[in-house]
Amino acid sequence: LTKGFRAARNRLAGLTELNEENLEPALRDVRLSLLEADVEFGVVKRFLGRVKESVIGETITNEVEAKGKKIKIGPAERFIKACQDELVGMMKSEGPALVHAKAPQPTGIMMVGLQGSGKTTTSGKLARLLESQGKKPLLVAADVQRPGAIEQLKVLGERLSIPVFSIPGGRPVDICTKAIDHARKLKRDVIIYDTAGRLAVDEPLMVELQQIKTNTKADNVFMVVDAMIGQDAVKTAAAFHERLGLTGVVMTKLDGDARGGAALSIREVTGAPVKFVGMGEGLDKLEEFRPEGMASRILGFGDVVGLMKDFEGVVDQNKAEQDAKRMLEGRFTLHDFLEQIRMLQKMGPLQDLFEKLPFFADSVPEGFQVDEKELKRAEAIVSSMTKRERIEPELFTKDKGRIQRVAKGSGRSDKDVVDLLQRFSFMKQMMGDIGQQAGLLQRLPGMK
Ligand code: GDP
Ligand code: MG
Repeated sequence: LTKGFRAARNRLAGLTELNEENLEPALRDVRLSLLEADVEFGVVKRFLGRVKESVIGETITNEVEAKGKKIKIGPAERFIKACQDELVGMMKSEGPALVHAKAPQPTGIMMVGLQGSGKTTTSGKLARLLESQGKKPLLVAADVQRPGAIEQLKVLGERLSIPVFSIPGGRPVDICTKAIDHARKLKRDVIIYDTAGRLAVDEPLMVELQQIKTNTKADNVFMVVDAMIGQDAVKTAAAFHERLGLTGVVMTKLDGDARGGAALSIREVTGAPVKFVGMGEGLDKLEEFRPEGMASRILGFGDVVGLMKDFEGVVDQNKAEQDAKRMLEGRFTLHDFLEQIRMLQKMGPLQDLFEKLPFFADSVPEGFQVDEKELKRAEAIVSSMTKRERIEPELFTKDKGRIQRVAKGSGRSDKDVVDLLQRFSFMKQMMGDIGQQAGLLQRLPGMK
């Protein structure tokens, strides 16, 4: 998946100057990578044009000073950074994720989009998120088309203990209009309208949605887009935007394989920025959009900032930054490894973690992905090592007796210990590769 981008980096490695000629093959590789990520053709062309312009003719600094540290920056890093910066610039949105109405007027959020894109689920997720921020949301079941749609929202509402307004047999426009009075009565300050979708854009639906927008004066009109739809999403979004004036886009199902290039295309073509992303079916799986993370994902080198955020959830921020830096510099010890294992356990499902690192998906050999039980075993093994052994794992290669001692101490076999050491060494090397590869170190907080 990320081959195109890595190839581009390799082509540029070792050069001392970027010019029209030596840049061409690298640009071709990135072009391929972006098209694979579902970025629209015209957008790719414009993007590459801008990247080219920004790197040609620049003198390449080989070393820069950051916080007292010297960092090497070669042409490959310059190029990758230019790609990342350009993508971030193209996807960045001014203004907050949500426009709030002036109190006492409740804030209106209209969810629109094709059937199955995730409107109802996202309505629930957003209600949950807003409630965690101290808001009092009301969910409105305005999809009277799909059998079971009202029930689906009610079930979500019950799970979240958030009220759901519906009028069985009512017209969507009336339901939404009446919901405003209802919200006032219940003292709810945000109204989320879960509207109907279709398999394709059609006229009666557009008219219905326009009427809802006009009557509710919704402050936010969010189009929910399934990341897996890829290229088609752009045309659909353009059609919705033309009729409804979208204020934002929510891209769902980014927990799957899709690289999310449509986020870039939609932004470029319609001007509507992505505001939130759906990262799973669970109601807690909605995140505010971060252009940096999406740029990395589209380019194919893992969402390091997202990973950092997870670290921050369980350890203090300074430590998280140090850990990430050390990991990426390929300087981490078995002691760190043990800490990481403990942290991984606190961070919840490993699945989520690895999904943030698409890079892993291609380069990790079969069997690398440890399961929770394996983590426990690894923890036992590392715990049986001395402090010195954790810092200098080479000691094990010189002295087989150490392996036997650790095996005994942890109740595992010698082979288990050897396997763990191998895996550690692989992980260490890989972390170093990622760090160098993407020039990621420079982008970690505190390294700018
Ligand atoms: P709607 O027709 O637009 O209202 O779509 P739904 O909210 O009913 O969602 C359709 C399907 O997509 C459901 O099975 C959801 O669980 C699933 N879904 C929604 N958002 C996500 C997401 O971010 N990730 C994953 N994996 N599934 C999602
Ligand atoms: Mg629905």
